Amino acid sequence: MNKNLLYRSIPKVDILLADEKIQELIERFSRETVMEAIHTEMANLRAYIGSCNDEEQAKEQIRMLKSNIERVVSAMHTPNMRGVINGTGTILHTNLGRAPISPEHMKRVAEIATGYSNLEYNLEAGKRGERYSHFEKLICRITGAEAAMAVNNNAASVMLILSSLAKGGEVVVSRGELVEIGGKFRIPDVMEQSGATLVEVGTTNKTHYDDYENAITEDTKALLKVHTSNYRIVGFTDHVEIDELIPLAKAHDLPVVEDLGSGVLIDLANYGLTHEPTVQESIAKGADVVCFSGDKLLGGPQAGIIIGKKKYIDMMKKNQLTRALRIDKFTAATLELVLMEYLSEEKAIKNIPVLRMITMPLSEVTKEAKSLVRTLRQAGLAAKIQAVPCESQIGGGSLPLERIPSRAVAIHPEKISVPELEEKMRHLPVPIIPRTVNDTILLDVRTIEHRYFKLIAEQLKSLIGEK
Ligand SMILES: *Cc1c(COP(=O)(O)O)cnc(C)c1O
Repeated sequence: MNKNLLYRSIPKVDILLADEKIQELIERFSRETVMEAIHTEMANLRAYIGSCNDEEQAKEQIRMLKSNIERVVSAMHTPNMRGVINGTGTILHTNLGRAPISPEHMKRVAEIATGYSNLEYNLEAGKRGERYSHFEKLICRITGAEAAMAVNNNAASVMLILSSLAKGGEVVVSRGELVEIGGKFRIPDVMEQSGATLVEVGTTNKTHYDDYENAITEDTKALLKVHTSNYRIVGFTDHVEIDELIPLAKAHDLPVVEDLGSGVLIDLANYGLTHEPTVQESIAKGADVVCFSGDKLLGGPQAGIIIGKKKYIDMMKKNQLTRALRIDKFTAATLELVLMEYLSEEKAIKNIPVLRMITMPLSEVTKEAKSLVRTLRQAGLAAKIQAVPCESQIGGGSLPLERIPSRAVAIHPEKISVPELEEKMRHLPVPIIPRTVNDTILLDVRTIEHRYFKLIAEQLKSLIGEK
């Protein structure tokens, strides 16, 4: 084969640029990215011809040049981060962005964030205001705390609290409460970053009142409780409740800090789930400072919410670290909207997606599953489709043992294998992440909002084909 002839048959750059298709690309995207794609694709093509011994294949690659350029340019202009459909049944899926925010709330946030706002401007006084002011009163009203603020996430809350209250001193914590929160991040390591020294007391399964009492020295600055929200120690166990620690702390003039992790604001026992200690309970029992995540059971944006006695919250607001950990306008606006729903428990359950999913009765989930089965069958997919019982879980390191009875739509494709289908589902324009069990694709409808049903049918049809 004559490689020189092949090289010479590659269209020149100016010829490509004059091409109608390429002109269209430049109009739609940008001259810069099209030029970049032309240069890299031409270099790839030359390298291909250099190492190719099949003339027909080389010619085919030359014919593909334009469409390759088009593909590269449009990929460059397609955002990589996108919405996915969560069919796993894990409600707070950390890898899938934890708590979804309702479209109504986001619409309001968009109005605020697309223009200027009173984020740090007190409209009444006409001067500088505080970014926490928008939700501080609200959260105090809901929880009974004196003061509140928020930082980037709950790991940051822990660090800021300890840095403000215990830097250079000691913090007493039970060995049974030294949690790893995922991604190899460990609460004890986060705490050390604050400049406080952890004094670990008790053993993994048992910690007694005396253990705390004996650990208090003149360097002690706080007693810390960590709610082990992502695991349970069962069997021969003992721990000290916060209400027992309060008198001990008072006697030594120390604050009691509680990291609640999930931070639930309603009693889940009312909805058939295990009782998870609420933020209100922690405050009522006398905790001086309490922190929790914004995007776990609260169902809001990623944030670390810190509440408690005003004198401690003021210390944190003044800490220089706060400037590095502060929340942005998106979070401040979203937090206010989500917290406002909690003024009525009924509204919270209805309008906060995470709570709606957790508390949705099985009868309703069953109806939804039947509806999705109908939609998929009507699309005439080449697959066996049926509703089957399954179990959802909370996830996000909350209520680890809890399983919520649910319904899934099981899909048995007829023309392709299950692993192949699962892989293809991840590459859809709106990717669908299923659970695969026993060579079946399961879509747990508890985590799939009804508005996605038609889209799921259309997209699956493109992968599975018709009967
Ligand atoms: C999840 C969790 C954290 C970390 O919260 P993020 O908001 O993910 O940073 C800290 N402490 C406990 C007990 C947790 O469960």
